[in-house]
Amino acid sequence: MTQVGAPGHDPIPIGDTAAAPFVRLPDPRQVFKQRGERFRALAAAHELKPYLLFLADLSDVQHDIQDGLPPVEMPAPDALARAREHAMPPLDRARFTSDPACDATFERVFASCGACLVPEAASAALQRVRATDAPARAAMAQAVLADAIPVEALAEHVFVAAALQVHFARLAARLDAVSLVPVGDGVCPACGGPPVASMVVGWPGAHGTRFCACATCATLWNYVRIRCTVCGSTKSISFEEIAGGPGTVKAECCGECRSYVKVFYQHKDPSLDPVADDVASLGLDLKLRETDLRRAGVDPFLLGY
Ligand SMILES: [Zn+2]
Ligand SMILES: [Zn+2]
Repeated sequence: MTQVGAPGHDPIPIGDTAAAPFVRLPDPRQVFKQRGERFRALAAAHELKPYLLFLADLSDVQHDIQDGLPPVEMPAPDALARAREHAMPPLDRARFTSDPACDATFERVFASCGACLVPEAASAALQRVRATDAPARAAMAQAVLADAIPVEALAEHVFVAAALQVHFARLAARLDAVSLVPVGDGVCPACGGPPVASMVVGWPGAHGTRFCACATCATLWNYVRIRCTVCGSTKSISFEEIAGGPGTVKAECCGECRSYVKVFYQHKDPSLDPVADDVASLGLDLKLRETDLRRAGVDPFLLGY
């Protein structure tokens, strides 16, 4: 079998990858359910157990509140065509405004989180976020979408980000996958957001290919391996991991832009989830914090650490 791959890395079998799609749109009825299960499994023997169990509950809320939500309002056909023509993401996060579906999502997430194992610090934040009016809520949504969450209000924004993840996954799910085009390195072709991490997948027909996972809408987009997901450089890529770990989590580090994004080897462990495993592999971030490398993956659930 012909194989390619840099020395020291898993070879990529050619032929199996011919059918790799450019994007896989999220299934909102699956993504949060599976994430909750993964958070719970990871929590069992983890030093962040209370926080991971909270995020498991929060993922369950993201799943459970979807029944009976109003339908999302999609961009008009001419706006979708224009986005494609100009290689722009069809869901324009810079011009995001709430709609009845989004308002209902916020309400339901905030109301349902009372049943979560909310950590003490987040409990007060939940009360504050429940008391916000529409303009304040819109400002918080904009901060999440602009990756500009104020440090003094991280806990409030966890709940806002969770609601936006549901809303944007529902929007992305209704896009036409084959109409999406690459819009730039490190940019989701559906909503224009940054990745939380990337995954090497084991899907039939795409085994060993890598996909970036959107932190906002959960769309996965194909991106070649051993290439910086931030700046696109292939010149000086190296990999870091925690010694003695399972070998399924690495940081892909770029010597050009001095940043890193994690890679999860899901083809070796299908239960890996880009968000849950990102939080659970905080140790790798702490190790890299001792270097001059900047974390480029975006995860509102990790901002407090
Ligand atoms: Zn996205
Ligand atoms: Zn780079």
